[in-house]
Amino acid sequence: MWTLTNGDEIPVGTMYCIGRNYAAHAAEMGASLPADPIVFIKPPAAFRQDGSTIALPTWSSDVHHEVELVVVIGTASAGITEERAWSIVAGVGVGLDLTARDIQSAAKESGQPWAVAKSWTGSAPVSTIVPLSSSGTGPWTLECSVNGHVMQHASTHIMEHSVERLISYLSSVFTLQPGDCIFTGTPDGVGPVGRGNVVTATLSDIASLTVQFE
Ligand code: MG
Repeated sequence: MWTLTNGDEIPVGTMYCIGRNYAAHAAEMGASLPADPIVFIKPPAAFRQDGSTIALPTWSSDVHHEVELVVVIGTASAGITEERAWSIVAGVGVGLDLTARDIQSAAKESGQPWAVAKSWTGSAPVSTIVPLSSSGTGPWTLECSVNGHVMQHASTHIMEHSVERLISYLSSVFTLQPGDCIFTGTPDGVGPVGRGNVVTATLSDIASLTVQFE
């Protein structure tokens, strides 16, 4: 369940996730920038709330943190223009697109999908959501720390595809539903998390998320 800072609750729906939306992260992955957004999906059961302890999968030895702006949809929508994009948003928060990098790399090499690498149980912790009326429309600063050491720090201003563009694009392909969300991509500095690590993610001073791993 999404919990909003105003006390509202919205059931978690489909999580649309965007790949390679920051040039420096695409570069650190040795990948090119796509003309259209790269999209993959996490199911609702991947969601975890702030304060959760997340069990790392036993079948991966290299799970990475990817800090991302998360946009939660408030209104069922298809065919939304960039100009109207924010009108369908319930609020924003910060999340971690936890990625089994070893599994993803093998999938890329063999041309197979990323579902196992990206969409496992617990792979999508997200903060409490700030209603759009309080958050404004950014830009914000994303930061991610592992055991107190800052690993990722960037402005959402440098996303290749803006929130407006992502909503317009996604709603041209899918029918967005209330409680769906968009993980808008990660900046550079991704790296491993291990059992016992505490990871904190922030979106400027409006949202924060702390999880630990076992
Ligand atoms: Mg990501």
